[in-house]
Amino acid sequence: MTLPLIDDHQRVHTDLRVSVTDRCNVRCFYCMPEKGMTFRSHDEILRFEEIERFVRVVARLGIRKVRLTGGEPLVRKNICRLVRMLSAVPGIEDLALTTNGILLAGHAADLKAAGLHRLNISLDTLDREKFIEITRRDELPRVLEGIAAAQEAGFRRIKLNALAIAGLTEKEAVPLARFARRHDLELRFIEFMPLDADRRWANGRVLPGRKILDILTREIGPLQRVSPSDQQAPAAQYRFADGSGRIGLINTVTQHFCGQCNRLRLTAEGQVRNCLFSTREWDARAVLRGGADDDALTSLVRAAVGEKKLGHGSDNGEFARPKRTMHQIGG
Ligand code: SAM
Ligand code: SF4
Repeated sequence: MTLPLIDDHQRVHTDLRVSVTDRCNVRCFYCMPEKGMTFRSHDEILRFEEIERFVRVVARLGIRKVRLTGGEPLVRKNICRLVRMLSAVPGIEDLALTTNGILLAGHAADLKAAGLHRLNISLDTLDREKFIEITRRDELPRVLEGIAAAQEAGFRRIKLNALAIAGLTEKEAVPLARFARRHDLELRFIEFMPLDADRRWANGRVLPGRKILDILTREIGPLQRVSPSDQQAPAAQYRFADGSGRIGLINTVTQHFCGQCNRLRLTAEGQVRNCLFSTREWDARAVLRGGADDDALTSLVRAAVGEKKLGHGSDNGEFARPKRTMHQIGG
């Protein structure tokens, strides 16, 4: 039997994030610069067949969940074809995608038919002006259409992801929570991490999850902690005591969950990373394109897992900021 992907800290890796592009149709200030982006060329980006081969190999090593991300995954041409290919890989039990929702209305039904199980949609505000300030594009109406289309297509338990940024999210949390309650969406707040291109991140700009809990409790009603169905899920989960609506807090910075981390990442150009904050990458593309067999790919993935550190250190200021930003790694 093949050994699972266990690191030196006894963490078993079952989760893979695959970035399918570094491109995006907006420019969120916490992720990308407003101007002057250079993107990877078509040849540099992994082809679908290469991604599928990588996923087949790691599925044999115990990877069970795959999440497609980017950049914006829905700007990648024929993304539904990749979803169909990956949903047929033996061992993959959960196939999910994270999107900003702008192109979702045109894709939701096809993604569902192709075998996508779950969707996370990023949305930081319901205020159109604020949305433009954050993303530098006027696309809020299309995101809202996308959410409706996803529900219409039959996606259930859709998660809304909002960034938790001090000075911004305090005002957005309550309207977002009311919207999520009304539309039966789980709302999750993710603490702002130092992966922004403009280097606006500072410790003081992280809005800790407990402050969001205080705001929601005061303005909407009491929240009760619920135990997650998946013990390795990064979000601390709550539900409103009146039974309507769930809130997740992903406290990546103030209470990081590195001790249970079970994730690996594959960047759009085929580099394996063992952490969002890792400063090293393992070149799977060279192996995929160099004619090597699957054992070589297995060894490369095991080497990446073997060198995984216990924590990222972004809570104590002792970490090295990665050279790449969020859209280049795959959030
Ligand atoms: N474009 C898609 C989207 O926005 O959902 C997928 C890629 S995006 C990089 C994935 C997630 O990363 C989004 O939920 C986004 O809010 C989050 N993100 C981006 N920059 C971040 C940062 N500096 N700190 C924390 N989360 C960040
Ligand atoms: Fe694009 Fe997502 Fe980054 Fe926003 S967070 S710029 S939507 S990749």
